[in-house]
Amino acid sequence: MRILLAGATGQVGHELLRSLQKLGGTATEIIAPGRDRFDLSDPAQCRRFIHNTKPALIVNAAAYTDVDRAESESAMAMRLNADAPAVMAEEAARIGAALVHFSTDYVFDGKASLPYREQDPVGPVNAYGRTKLAGEQAIVAAGIPHLILRTGWVYGMRGRNFLRSILHLARTQDTLRVVDDQFGTPTWCRTVADMTAQLLAMAQAAPNTAQWWKEHGGLLHMTAIGSTSRADFARRIIELAGLSAKAKVEPVSTASYPTVATRPRYSVLDTGKLQGLCMPPRWDEALQRCMQQSG
Ligand code: NDP
Repeated sequence: MRILLAGATGQVGHELLRSLQKLGGTATEIIAPGRDRFDLSDPAQCRRFIHNTKPALIVNAAAYTDVDRAESESAMAMRLNADAPAVMAEEAARIGAALVHFSTDYVFDGKASLPYREQDPVGPVNAYGRTKLAGEQAIVAAGIPHLILRTGWVYGMRGRNFLRSILHLARTQDTLRVVDDQFGTPTWCRTVADMTAQLLAMAQAAPNTAQWWKEHGGLLHMTAIGSTSRADFARRIIELAGLSAKAKVEPVSTASYPTVATRPRYSVLDTGKLQGLCMPPRWDEALQRCMQQSG
């Protein structure tokens, strides 16, 4: 099976490159073009690439992910997060490919107090969330076999993320001001990649693959289990890094820590549907494993 993986230099994409290799052994060929050959802002180039390579599966881990900058660059964010997935879906329809795409907890408005289910009403509060929602809608409209995997609070040991920022700050400052009124589920990028590969392995192993996509495809929430506040997430990182004696977290309110883009107050996702297929780890266990593995 030939897989086209977009965004292999990102947090999730880099892990996917490893996880997807395990699918079907040598029978799996992964093509992972960088943005020089597969630039999401260049629809004609993306179309050509898909048409020429004819993958059986497109996995899109590329996106415009700078939540604050998306406020001032919303046209570019829309191009990458909505127009490009639309092009991928259209081309997938032409060649009979399936599409796996990643979306976000930020499609919700954050006013809930119970974990969001897939069918709950959306209402993004920032430009990033609006562009990601438009991407979801374009894929659904194409009517192709697809998985839209909504995740949240993704971290890992590469790229820009909360874990790496906190580690850096804890090594350089005594007090870290972190918001304690935003709640979500920290999710290791490796968890996302491994669970995605597990789902695809199930699709591959199914007696009727097309039927599998019909039954299990669509929208799926994919995060670790449990939830926490930003401040407690930071405390746990500092503890696991053995820096508790040096650095302390000072909890602050979102109101006293303004950012360019508004964040939803509560963006915990209900993973019940996912758990019917594979079991995510608890967020704090995954965090411990991630930090142990990177020393
Ligand atoms: P990263 O920001 O780590 O990586 C983004 C990837 O997209 C990189 O490979 C980057 O390539 C690529 N990319 C950006 N612009 C272009 C372009 N114009 N053409 C081609 N490739 C481009 O993303 P994550 O791994 O964190 O996110 C993966 C998915 O998960 C995304 O869909 C994101 O929206 C979603 N998500 C992420 C969350 C998070 O907390 N990070 C939370 C919820 C959902 P390059 O290296 O060249 O820049």
